[in-house]
Amino acid sequence: METTSKDGYTLDHISHLHDLHLADVPAGDAPPPRCHACGLDCTRSAYQCAPCGYALHPSCARVGRAARHPAHPEHPLSLRLAPPYQSGIYTCDACRVGGHEFVLHCHHCQFDLHLPCAALPADAAVASRAHPHPLRLVYDSPHRGKQGVLVVCTVCQQGIVPEQWHYGCDRCETFAAHVGCAVPDALAKDLYPRVDMQRVRAEQEARNTAALLQQYQQMSALISAQSSMFASNTASMINAMQGLNLGARMSNENLAINFNKSGTGDEIRKREEYYKQGVFGWLHKA
Ligand SMILES: [Zn+2]
Ligand SMILES: [Zn+2]
Ligand SMILES: [Zn+2]
Ligand SMILES: [Zn+2]
Ligand SMILES: [Zn+2]
Ligand SMILES: [Zn+2]
Repeated sequence: METTSKDGYTLDHISHLHDLHLADVPAGDAPPPRCHACGLDCTRSAYQCAPCGYALHPSCARVGRAARHPAHPEHPLSLRLAPPYQSGIYTCDACRVGGHEFVLHCHHCQFDLHLPCAALPADAAVASRAHPHPLRLVYDSPHRGKQGVLVVCTVCQQGIVPEQWHYGCDRCETFAAHVGCAVPDALAKDLYPRVDMQRVRAEQEARNTAALLQQYQQMSALISAQSSMFASNTASMINAMQGLNLGARMSNENLAINFNKSGTGDEIRKREEYYKQGVFGWLHKA
């Protein structure tokens, strides 16, 4: 292991030429040092090389060259000091946020974790003030990939992005919590935002209304296209239908289903009525 800790306060880290020294970060007006391993601010303490302005979070500094993570049990992850991709960016498989600093990487699977995301307490017995039972880090939400589906956090009642890790309880199936709601002092908590549910609901409503209007416009266009086609082809269509005996098979109940198919003038008019009523009915309900 190239990363060695001499006395707990001094660290010889592979990422920097000089020794790093552990020190408290004073709360004050000066901007806090930025961790070179993860890009987040060091707010409490940091391993620093003051002359170079180089800093690492203690938890980021202690990540070894190779690590196992329960979210990716197949292979060990290796610590890379830069993303192993030509783009110079990786996407973290925990929070789905991009990164260009250190990464825990599986080169077989292109699996990548930010160091603070990898450091989240992950075993099945995370004690949290937010819930009486031990919590477990959930790597794969059942809603992952379903656009617009949000899990609501039991603690803060705001939305959890379904693509992101969250905390769950084995005993309470409906319990779900943001990383920051379950582990308030987690370094990574700001990478897991609370989604404003009021805004989501307002946007959903606006989208539904827009979708209904669009549906109505498409139907109107279809209706007028069919009407004009019908006017020019009336005689031949009626003849063809009678010949195939299709008219008799097309019952009134089938009018809606057969909207896109042809019919007699009377049937087309009935269909127009049916759709106009239907669409206006939805719009008034919405
Ligand atoms: Zn860090
Ligand atoms: Zn230095
Ligand atoms: Zn992450
Ligand atoms: Zn792998
Ligand atoms: Zn929450
Ligand atoms: Zn529970």
